[in-house]
Amino acid sequence: MKKLLLLLCLGLSLAASAQQHQNAKQNTNQNIIIITTDGFRWQDLFKGMDDTIAQQKRFNEGDSLGLIQKYGGATMQERRQKLMPFFWNTIATKGQVYGNRLFGNFINTENPHWFSYPGYSEIFTGYVDPRVNSNEHPANPNTTVLGFFNTQPALKGKVYAFSAWEAFNRILNEKASGIPVIAAFDTLAFNNLTANERLLNKLHQQSYRPWGEECYDVFTHFNAMETLKNRKPRVLYISYGETDEWSHAGKYKSYLNAAHQLDKWLAEIWNFVQSDPQYKNNTTLIITSDHGRGDVVKEKWTSHGDKIEGASQIWMAVMGPNTPALGEVKTPAQYYQKQFAQTIAHLMGYHFTAEHPVADPIKSTKAISQ
Ligand SMILES: [Zn+2]
Repeated sequence: MKKLLLLLCLGLSLAASAQQHQNAKQNTNQNIIIITTDGFRWQDLFKGMDDTIAQQKRFNEGDSLGLIQKYGGATMQERRQKLMPFFWNTIATKGQVYGNRLFGNFINTENPHWFSYPGYSEIFTGYVDPRVNSNEHPANPNTTVLGFFNTQPALKGKVYAFSAWEAFNRILNEKASGIPVIAAFDTLAFNNLTANERLLNKLHQQSYRPWGEECYDVFTHFNAMETLKNRKPRVLYISYGETDEWSHAGKYKSYLNAAHQLDKWLAEIWNFVQSDPQYKNNTTLIITSDHGRGDVVKEKWTSHGDKIEGASQIWMAVMGPNTPALGEVKTPAQYYQKQFAQTIAHLMGYHFTAEHPVADPIKSTKAISQ
């Protein structure tokens, strides 16, 4: 009953919220950092390392012992804690984590493709456009929530996006949105580059290019951190890619190491945020993925797309001043990727409208005007 009442309250406050958002406190000092890690499976996030994959010679890169020492454990809790300690110690206690299907808490992509461009487009537009059906799709014809933010007087020029993958220049329609999108091997070209930024440009340009149109996450991360510290965005997007690249290559060890490194970066980002006067206690961190991967047939963990069962299954975590500490959400529910865009807008105190429909936000995140 208590639960029912709570749900009722949430539903009611949400119904009122769209209206309120029109004249919301849009001059508040809220900030948001959106993070994605490409194709990282909910199975590994919630259950930790999968022994049956780690034990297979073709996936463990000749180091099953090292893998077991680093990420092994008797229980799921132990294993996931080893893989992503900051996520489970801090985000899962101070924030909210969605998508643990063991509790019937489901998040799926609504788009039928289960690969990257349609997934990111769904995240940022709040909408599934049937025209967006390939990774080679040209500039996104749909307004994203980041583009919307960049038209708001209080946020204009304070929205930045960093991505390991070249396609984000198109997904976020850099030209039309006016958002600086530093993707793959793009150089930082801001006014008054810092010494660190100049050095990062050189390192990045001269680094090994393992995947052609995608760089190592470390460059994307350092570029984004430097911007966070020096240019103080109100809205920052960081898109990491290695979890997808290593899994396509069948390298489970490198895939887990990439997730483990991401966890360290989440801690670094959060510690900076909480030590900086502009960001402290008024910044939300939201983390998700563009698609899932195989698991029903174990060997298919390397792959995704509409032929791979389960590849539409994703997860999401959020932590910040406007998200009550629900922790790991264990209530049965069905959410969709298209709900993230309006969730992000509401967390900033805005109501996202565009030339296309925008799905409702996830209700248990609280908008600041409520
Ligand atoms: Zn992929």
